[in-house]
Amino acid sequence: MVNGASRVVIVGGGFGGLAAAKALRHAPVHVTLIDRTNHHLFQPLLYQVATSVLAPGQIASPIRGILRKQKNATVILGEVTGVNKDLRCVLVNSADREGVEIPYDYLVLATGVRHSYFGHNEFEKFAPGLKGLADAVSIRNKILQAFEQAEAEEDPSRHRDLLTFVLVGAGPTGVEMAGAIAVLVRNTLRSEFRRIDPTSARVVLLDMSPRILGTFAEPLSQAAKSRLEALGVEVRLGHGADQIDDEGVIVAGERIASKTVIWTAGVAPSPAGKWLSPLQTNRSRQLKLEQR
Ligand SMILES: Cc1cc2nc3c(=O)[nH]c(=O)nc-3n(C[C@H](O)[C@H](O)[C@H](O)COP(=O)(O)OP(=O)(O)OC[C@H]3O[C@@H](n4cnc5c(N)ncnc54)[C@H](O)[C@@H]3O)c2cc1C
Repeated sequence: MVNGASRVVIVGGGFGGLAAAKALRHAPVHVTLIDRTNHHLFQPLLYQVATSVLAPGQIASPIRGILRKQKNATVILGEVTGVNKDLRCVLVNSADREGVEIPYDYLVLATGVRHSYFGHNEFEKFAPGLKGLADAVSIRNKILQAFEQAEAEEDPSRHRDLLTFVLVGAGPTGVEMAGAIAVLVRNTLRSEFRRIDPTSARVVLLDMSPRILGTFAEPLSQAAKSRLEALGVEVRLGHGADQIDDEGVIVAGERIASKTVIWTAGVAPSPAGKWLSPLQTNRSRQLKLEQR
């Protein structure tokens, strides 16, 4: 209790954590929101940062600023590393201190997800995913660098690998990224280079499912596929990536040579579920609830 008010600790300043904090603005509680970054990120527009349409600052807002007027809320910048359920406190590492205990009466864990490589973590080095601002900036740099390298490359046979962009996973993020890269190469960059023709770039969207946007209604999948193909995206379905390395991707025995492969398939929860032992998590790190 703080001055008689219950202490609510919220870990994560994403959509979930911030919504929880704001919903408590008139409640007789003291809210402590902890995040390892100083900003709230509007993830649905990450692909626009990754394709140079938006600047990072346009999709990120300081968490302190968002909660500035909420007098019952305090923000802590730090990484939560665990929960001590017996002592009812979370353990936080900050820039200069480790293992600081922040006590709670009520705890909200809203730590989001990361990419899942479905057991192929070795792919991550060659095929980064898109979940945070740093990922988006790094992918943006990688895409732009590929054009710069191709422009500087004397050997035209190397242009093809540099100007082939592969998205592995045709869920919403893969579809958005494929469309945005196609627009980037066909419109934005079309007149910017002298040796290479950006419109000759190849954008390949792969998925092991028989259709893109598998969780959407079938007519929507079909419509999205047609729109992507009209933009020049090559949609290849029915096979996932067997191998990803610094030369590109192998799909159903065929190598697609590419210097820019982006992982847009699959997510896994943050490790927060493990902090709640003896509650169990499954192999995908999801908490098993309603255990009998
Ligand atoms: C590229 C992309 C496009 C998307 N497009 C859409 C869309 O169009 N429509 C839609 O509805 N949804 C979309 N989503 C999904 C949506 O963004 C997520 O469902 C939503 O962000 C989840 O909110 P959250 O609060 O659970 O987690 P997050 O927003 O991920 O927030 C988690 C927070 O927890 C913090 N955190 C994590 N671990 C720790 C720790 N140990 N210590 C301290 N802080 C920690 C992180 O820094 C982060 O700020 C998209 C997601 C992505 C990645």
